[in-house]
Amino acid sequence: MIQAPAHIPREVDCLVLGGGITGAGVARDAAIRGLSVLLVDSHDFASGTSHLTSKLVHGGLRYLEYGQFRMVLEGVSERNRLLNLIAPNLVRPLKFIIPLEEHDLKRWLLATSALQLYDLMGLYDGGRRSRTLNEAALAEACPALRSFPSALAFWDAQTNDARLVLATLRTAVEAGATILNYAGLQAASFDGRAWNVHLYDEDAGVTFALRARSIVNATGPWTPLTAELLSEPPKPLMWVKGTHIVLDRLAGFGDDAIVIRSLRDRRPLWVVPWESRLLLGTTESLYEGNLRRVRAEADEVADLFSSFADAFPGLHARPHHVRMSFAGVRPIIQQEGALDSALSRHHEIDADAACRVITISGGKLTTFRRMAEQAVDQVVTMLALPPINRRTRQRLRGEALWPGLVRGGRGDLHHQLAHEARSAEVNEDTISHLIRHYGVNAAGIVARMFRDRSSAEPLVEGLPFTLAEMEYLCRTESVRHLEDLVRRRTPLYFLADLEDGRVLRRIVEHIAPLRVWDAGERDRQVGRVLDDLAADLSAVRGFQQQAAGVTRAIGAGASAAAVPAASAAAS
Ligand SMILES: Cc1cc2nc3c(=O)[nH]c(=O)nc-3n(C[C@H](O)[C@H](O)[C@H](O)COP(=O)(O)OP(=O)(O)OC[C@H]3O[C@@H](n4cnc5c(N)ncnc54)[C@H](O)[C@@H]3O)c2cc1C
Repeated sequence: MIQAPAHIPREVDCLVLGGGITGAGVARDAAIRGLSVLLVDSHDFASGTSHLTSKLVHGGLRYLEYGQFRMVLEGVSERNRLLNLIAPNLVRPLKFIIPLEEHDLKRWLLATSALQLYDLMGLYDGGRRSRTLNEAALAEACPALRSFPSALAFWDAQTNDARLVLATLRTAVEAGATILNYAGLQAASFDGRAWNVHLYDEDAGVTFALRARSIVNATGPWTPLTAELLSEPPKPLMWVKGTHIVLDRLAGFGDDAIVIRSLRDRRPLWVVPWESRLLLGTTESLYEGNLRRVRAEADEVADLFSSFADAFPGLHARPHHVRMSFAGVRPIIQQEGALDSALSRHHEIDADAACRVITISGGKLTTFRRMAEQAVDQVVTMLALPPINRRTRQRLRGEALWPGLVRGGRGDLHHQLAHEARSAEVNEDTISHLIRHYGVNAAGIVARMFRDRSSAEPLVEGLPFTLAEMEYLCRTESVRHLEDLVRRRTPLYFLADLEDGRVLRRIVEHIAPLRVWDAGERDRQVGRVLDDLAADLSAVRGFQQQAAGVTRAIGAGASAAAVPAASAAAS
């Protein structure tokens, strides 16, 4: 359970700044090893990059091409650990298909060798092996795809990024960590023995003072800004923006992820089945704006859509099939070279022993456990703690986010819950969704559905979210705002059509008594989400209008050369 703590500890071994996947991993690792831990996030948990990813848990096959063998091996090992030990229901195997454009024996041999190496690095996990597909086999696997002479098929995995953060935080809390969202760092000074820290909770209007024997800066893209607050030299980072679009799951697209090429710059794009939609991304560009307002642009949406429409003529994709767009910023350690896939996603951990600050930079969602382990090793050394932690460190390697689930077995739990849920007339999709996302805790939501049958009905047709789930999250996961609930505790914001406000209002009315929101506050909460939605949708609407304009212009006889990127989209 993640709840606003009744009191904030006056003194801790480790203050973790940042409640994205990196900070959550550190809090989990440090708490299980027996350290006293406080984690704070200046906004909501997972409100940074960690809820705006491609949702993949992967080794990064393409980095083999650039000789980054160690990084790929680390990613593949962490993928397997998450799949098999740590979060077997939140992280699921996903097959990827990469179509090859031409018959080039040398490239084909290189690609198949890379796949064999990738399989070997993953020790043929679960017996899943990569293979090659000829033209006919590819056409059978993806009939809607344009024809390619051959393809490669291999396995990685997919997750719900924000829920992975929240599940990790829950484990940290169960191990004794205190965690707090919407608490910013107001002032911090080091007195030679510990940090004297003042934190400010903006919603509650309260300031907290505490002493921290060490600080871990895990603030992702904000790392250099946080370093300034701690008077630490900022790490040189590049901010690289990546944009995704969310599309209708068009009939004819199967269950595998397909890698296509951007028409604009030939970079690889991933088309991934995501819940009831398709997720397609990403574009990549340097970013310098406000880190809280990273948004897609209409031309990025057009680029992604036209690449998709070109690759899948059999899907007959139209601009109105684009439902949403979102963009996140990746903090990449500054390096020479072009802005392309070759830029390394490796992480670095810097320890300032004199001031007892650990700074984590770069990295991936996939490798959070490994990054946390390395960072906490440094904290333990820095604080000269006894080697408590040899054993717990070993245990952590396979410490499940839902221990009961792993021990009892997914099948058993599913069977038992499904039986209960069916008697509460809960539909099958909702049952699977609850087990996947909440493991053993799904029982708490089903119990609510028993008490109030109407709370078991899907909020939006075709999606598994219910009022019972929203209520459960409000009670157990420190939800401060409606936005927390619909953007991060669940991905409703990205998947459903919420623009008319009806669903948002139903949720607000249901949870208002728990949050003690009066009528004015309920309006403000809904209004805030609608404003955000309008801003996030403006790129999609801009693209759709541009495409409609092109269609009209072509209809009226204008030259297609006179109109920009949207022409491909309109055709
Ligand atoms: C477009 C895109 C797609 C990606 N796809 C994948 C993928 O598919 N798979 C994968 O493995 N990786 C992926 N990544 C990389 C991955 O998302 C990041 O490495 C990871 O999410 C970074 O997590 P973080 O916790 O370090 O940062 P964030 O998630 O950004 O968290 C930082 C947190 O710090 C908080 N904060 C800021 N300042 C302060 C302060 N002063 N005090 C307290 N808190 C503060 C913020 O509110 C935020 O919650 C992707 C990245 C991008 C940009």
